[in-house]
Amino acid sequence: MNFSNLHRASFIQQLTSQEFDLLVVGGGITGCGIALDAALRGMKVALVEKNDFASGTSSRSTKLIHGGLRYLKQFEFKLVRDVGTERAVVHRNARHLVIPEKMLLPIIKGGSLNEFSTSIGLLVYDLLAGVKKGERRIMLDRHATLKAEPLLNAANLLGGGLYFEYRTDDSRLTIELAKSAFANGALFLNYAELKGFLQTPSGKICGAKIEDKTEGGEFDIRAKVVVNACGPWVDLLRKKDNSLRGKRLQLTKGVHLVFPHSKLPLQQAAYFDTADGRMIFAIPRNNITYVGTTDTVYNQEIDAPKCMRDDAQYLLNAVNSAFVNVNLQVSDIESTWAGLRPLIHEDGKSPSELSRKDEIMISESGLVSIAGGKLTGYRLMAEKIVDLAAKTLGKHYGKCKTKNYLLCGGIFEDDIAFQKALKDATMLGEPASIPESKVHEWFFRYGSNTQKIIENVASLSSAIKEPETLFNSAEVKYAVEHEMVMELNDFLIRRTGKIFFDKPQSEKQIPLLAEMLGDYLKLTPEKQTAIVENTLREYVLATTL
Ligand SMILES: Cc1cc2nc3c(=O)[nH]c(=O)nc-3n(C[C@H](O)[C@H](O)[C@H](O)COP(=O)(O)OP(=O)(O)OC[C@H]3O[C@@H](n4cnc5c(N)ncnc54)[C@H](O)[C@@H]3O)c2cc1C
Repeated sequence: MNFSNLHRASFIQQLTSQEFDLLVVGGGITGCGIALDAALRGMKVALVEKNDFASGTSSRSTKLIHGGLRYLKQFEFKLVRDVGTERAVVHRNARHLVIPEKMLLPIIKGGSLNEFSTSIGLLVYDLLAGVKKGERRIMLDRHATLKAEPLLNAANLLGGGLYFEYRTDDSRLTIELAKSAFANGALFLNYAELKGFLQTPSGKICGAKIEDKTEGGEFDIRAKVVVNACGPWVDLLRKKDNSLRGKRLQLTKGVHLVFPHSKLPLQQAAYFDTADGRMIFAIPRNNITYVGTTDTVYNQEIDAPKCMRDDAQYLLNAVNSAFVNVNLQVSDIESTWAGLRPLIHEDGKSPSELSRKDEIMISESGLVSIAGGKLTGYRLMAEKIVDLAAKTLGKHYGKCKTKNYLLCGGIFEDDIAFQKALKDATMLGEPASIPESKVHEWFFRYGSNTQKIIENVASLSSAIKEPETLFNSAEVKYAVEHEMVMELNDFLIRRTGKIFFDKPQSEKQIPLLAEMLGDYLKLTPEKQTAIVENTLREYVLATTL
């Protein structure tokens, strides 16, 4: 069976007809990472997600696999070392999605760093993160910094430092984790919300009540251990478990703005100072440049965080003062996304001062909750949780196996194998007249699974003649048959990021893509209309202020 909602009825039947070792609630990077680790160790695993996989914070980050340079300032050396060394592991295990990117740190008059502290800071960062010699930081003088990024404001520039980060696609990394766990026997269901817990007479949690959000109705899943990996919603589950005592979450909101690259034509990703002593990223990617992030206390509706005018104005001011002649306005913003950091509350600390460390909380009923952390550290968080679950289960499951496990789509032994596979995919696309640029776009999205999309193109080409429609159809078919897509936004936002990274094209294609999705999912016309409405609702959120 494929990782597809075409098998939804069978998945539900399997979820209800057996007892699992582990039930993971929440299909963000944390939950999917836990499911993979547990499945690889031989546990019987189920995961439920109330919306789409990665629809929470895991599609709303800065999309960097990074060591968190700024945490050095807070003396969080262990955090920097853990996530720093982890970058190389995540890159090795998903080469198609985690790509080295040089980041420029401009040093400005009156900024938070001077040349000496930048040089030492970056060196410590490289050493803590175990960065290879050839990839260690390079300090630049003023002239070389301007050459690296001519849009920097020369008036207050003193120099710069170049260091290595890795860029990623957060929601694709999450989905590849889910697919990998599924391939190892874990069962997954999106649009399936935990509504309550099942308990033994002595009050121990032994499963959950789940609502099927597509067809309606509830069913039970029985499990020996239940993990709450609900990110910003972690405390809501703890409340359902009557265990919301002691440590609590403090949510903070971070927004990103997307501009057409022509409006903010950076040639180099940069991490720069803001007037209020924070630092933000500006990252060019294909035809856009995105900028972020903010960090403000958030006490409103968790389900739909939104970029507000104040958030946008803050970032616009920062960009306009760091880069000359761009003079960006609200009207230049192409789209936005807003995410919530599930951090642990600490009295008297501002949002930026709150630790990004992860925390595990175990309730009397046995509910295991995990919050905090970073995208980058998902594997280490998963290892801790699965070690703990193994202890509770009282069986020997062996050590964590994810360190050397190549994720779905990322099955390349090394960079040479990766480049060869990219070349092979390009050649495979030639007989079907698929342009090299399209194959590359797919390869950096689906890795080795690009082959399946090329096969779809070949099989659909007699029925669909217009190339763009043909390529879209091949991709939507793959998303339905192999990536559990149910709604058009699953495809446009979380499987491809098209809404953010290719808004002009994706906007035009909404009705046609909905029709394709409806056909592949065998939906009724009413459901198809509902899908367009849902898409437009979320689309409006992502594109208006
Ligand atoms: C603005 C911003 C920028 C960031 N940038 C970076 C970065 O560049 N690099 C980095 O390493 N980290 C970054 N982070 C941190 C990182 O994104 C998060 O730590 C991570 O995504 C959290 O993942 P999660 O799985 O714990 O939570 P989520 O992704 O939110 O997943 C929780 C899931 O639980 C589901 N859920 C909730 N309630 C229920 C229920 N009752 N039943 C079933 N499912 C439920 C939700 O729908 C959601 O999908 C950033 C965070 C923010 C906010």
